[in-house]
Amino acid sequence: MVALIAAISERINAHKEALNQLDAALGDGDHGTGIGAGFDAAAEQVQALKSPTPANILRTTALALMNTMGGSSGALYGTFFLKASLLVKDKNELEAQDWVDMFQAGLDGVVQRGKADVGGKTMLDALAPAVSALRESIQADRALPEALQQAADAAESGARATTDMVARFGRAKFTGERALGHQDAGATSISLMFQALASC
Ligand code: ADP
Ligand code: MG
Repeated sequence: MVALIAAISERINAHKEALNQLDAALGDGDHGTGIGAGFDAAAEQVQALKSPTPANILRTTALALMNTMGGSSGALYGTFFLKASLLVKDKNELEAQDWVDMFQAGLDGVVQRGKADVGGKTMLDALAPAVSALRESIQADRALPEALQQAADAAESGARATTDMVARFGRAKFTGERALGHQDAGATSISLMFQALASC
């Protein structure tokens, strides 16, 4: 799991400028810089953990994101990892179903905190389909790597679909029809995160 966080950091930072540009079209242009720095800090801090249990890794990641990223998405990404950490509190090893439960708890936390819903051109438009795909794959008895790949594919198409949405939440909600034709930055970073998970 320490390697997973490092892989996410690498993937996100490789697309930092592209994420900034997506955010610049409809927001303030800082999404790539913020999330890149957030996962950089997270990767460094989890590497240094003396007791790298899944819960500690996820909680450390959450706090690093919240402290480093700032902005609305820092709190939302942080919430995602924090809620996930609570779900695996006493576990040293994770079963496939734990991954589903962890991600569902993270998703629920983001919805609760951000009060957005699917179809409003936010990170939820990638995250919700990814979690559904993960659950369906695990229920269909697919192995975890295959299930994570299906989640990554769902996140990618979900992110792509935000191109045709008007924004109803966050800074972008004031852009009206101007949002059409632009893919959402947060949905894109979620898609990159799942791609990193699937390729690990
Ligand atoms: P900020 O908008 O504070 O500059 P970022 O640029 O880091 O934060 O992140 C912007 C992204 O946050 C958007 O692209 C969108 O996906 C996501 N976002 C904004 N508001 C919400 C919300 N209420 N719920 C879920 N995601 C949101
Ligand atoms: Mg921004």
